[in-house]
Amino acid sequence: MKLEYTPEQDAFRAEVRAWMEANVPSGPLPSFDLTREGFEAHRDWERKLSEGRWGMVTWPEAYGGRALDLIRWLIFEEEYYRAKAPTRVNQNGIFLLGPTMMEFGTEDQKARFLPRMAAGDDIWAQAWSEPGAGSDLAGVRATATRDGDHYILNGQKTWSSRAVFADWAFGLFREPGSERHKGMSLILFPLDAPGVTRRPIQRMDGKMVFAELFLDNVRVPVADRLGDEGQGWHVCMATAGFERGLMLRSPARYQVAASNLLTLYENNKNSLPASVAERVAQSWMDADAYALSIYSTASRLTAGGSIGPESSTNKIFWSEMDIALHQTALDILGDRAELAPPDLGTTAVDWLEDYIFALAGPIYAGSNEIQRNIIAERMLGLPRA
Ligand SMILES: Cc1cc2nc3c(=O)[nH]c(=O)nc-3n(C[C@H](O)[C@H](O)[C@H](O)COP(=O)(O)OP(=O)(O)OC[C@H]3O[C@@H](n4cnc5c(N)ncnc54)[C@H](O)[C@@H]3O)c2cc1C
Repeated sequence: MKLEYTPEQDAFRAEVRAWMEANVPSGPLPSFDLTREGFEAHRDWERKLSEGRWGMVTWPEAYGGRALDLIRWLIFEEEYYRAKAPTRVNQNGIFLLGPTMMEFGTEDQKARFLPRMAAGDDIWAQAWSEPGAGSDLAGVRATATRDGDHYILNGQKTWSSRAVFADWAFGLFREPGSERHKGMSLILFPLDAPGVTRRPIQRMDGKMVFAELFLDNVRVPVADRLGDEGQGWHVCMATAGFERGLMLRSPARYQVAASNLLTLYENNKNSLPASVAERVAQSWMDADAYALSIYSTASRLTAGGSIGPESSTNKIFWSEMDIALHQTALDILGDRAELAPPDLGTTAVDWLEDYIFALAGPIYAGSNEIQRNIIAERMLGLPRA
């Protein structure tokens, strides 16, 4: 790994920065988890990104990308967060389903779905979890019954982020009578199909971040299955690798948060004990360490390597770093975290809201206990507990 940027990479950074400066909305968009209006405002932003071919820079040009390597994607992400650009409403599509489709999709699926995904025309939700199948995903009970060139989907999904307003979902279903890892298929279905009922799950803060999905004889063409019939587990594990590995949480997110934390500390340090300075410094170092480790992985992948169980170590690291960083911010703010306007003259950061979201980090994308099991068994070779 070379620890400096090439002139071409510097030029690319300048190009991204200029575009972001010219195009990022001047203030935050309304939440995409509260209203249809907020959701559509974020869709418009996805469209704008895609018009500049910034929707997903690593994708082939034919699908709306720029065919750039992962190092440039990291540079893009740094500029994206630096510019305070809106959170990506289509992250399940572009970061999870998109890469999976490149690997397992038919040419027809790639042509039908990827350009629309890149353009924000289709916003995707992930429909894997069920009331009895979260960590134990092989416990999925929702069924796909083959009927000629269609499947009939039945069952219940839960905790589906952004499914309240999203257009499509990619779900895990099993052949009736099959058990555990066998007989599963990953199937794409429109959320407005007859037989789909979505029930928003309201969070304590009133946001409808999730939906439950009820599927009652939903008919979908076999052509909308991703990967081979019965191979859904294998396909899902590839998606999970993307989710835990590089794409879902780029280092820039934490480097910007660490920088905001430093500003918050600077503005309040006279009233703080020395131990707080150590915690701020630790968060700063952790964010940088995470960035270096991701740059190292990206260099290896660009040279033809693959990502394995180490994606589990990434996932544990970013999720725990995020909580520690936000906990330090709340300790600096004290009661003001709840009472005062969020930014306190520093940056437009709602530390309390971001802390609450950080708390979910060890749960989603595969809980950290499960990641620790994976590390123990697959990286350290320890016996199964
Ligand atoms: C913010 C957020 C967004 C989400 N978005 C989506 C989404 O878009 N789509 C979707 O399909 N799902 C989504 N989920 C669901 C998420 O994937 C599950 O919550 C997660 O997989 C854990 O499953 P569970 O909730 O059923 O908990 P359980 O599996 O019941 O686990 C409960 C606890 O027991 C622990 N545990 C379970 N089994 C073991 C074991 N063998 N060894 C050690 N510990 C164990 C777990 O780690 C956890 O701490 C989201 C969740 C959150 C919090």
